[in-house]
Amino acid sequence: MRSWKDYVIRWRKLYGQPSPKVYNPCGVKVSPLRCGKCSSTWKVTRHHKGHEFYLAVVDEATYAARYIQFRPEDIVPLCGRCHDKVHRLYMPIMSELRMYIEACFKCLDADDNPVWEYKPSVAVLESYRKRMISKCDRWLKGKIKKPTHSRKKKLSRKRKVQNENTKFNRFSH
Ligand SMILES: [Zn+2]
Ligand SMILES: [Zn+2]
Repeated sequence: MRSWKDYVIRWRKLYGQPSPKVYNPCGVKVSPLRCGKCSSTWKVTRHHKGHEFYLAVVDEATYAARYIQFRPEDIVPLCGRCHDKVHRLYMPIMSELRMYIEACFKCLDADDNPVWEYKPSVAVLESYRKRMISKCDRWLKGKIKKPTHSRKKKLSRKRKVQNENTKFNRFSH
């Protein structure tokens, strides 16, 4: 299986390098990004609101160029904690999307490219992308209720967040 980095290297070769100003992580040091949800500057990365990374793995021709462009309308800076949260909010949508992809999927070829039994429809992929964007936008505006935490959960949250981040940092979303 390719890693996130392998995909990005491949897509930059196929679709060109976006301008350094747009993606260069050094730029982050010059003006630190603030989380679009809580304003923290802790481990802030750019979240693709429509989870375009996953879609680009599924349909490279439609989404890979867009993913590596980090278009301002597609992304929101999020701190490590909020980034983890938004991906948890996506879980019900993602499990539906994964079921659809599994139904279409045949196998991987020798170069790790998917071979399809049925090619996933761009209209269907777009509908999932829009649902994720809309969920993210509603969450950013505070329109999604926070789950209530018990006292015990609150106390162990710091450690839990650290564990989640270790797991999470494998991919930039
Ligand atoms: Zn945050
Ligand atoms: Zn993300």
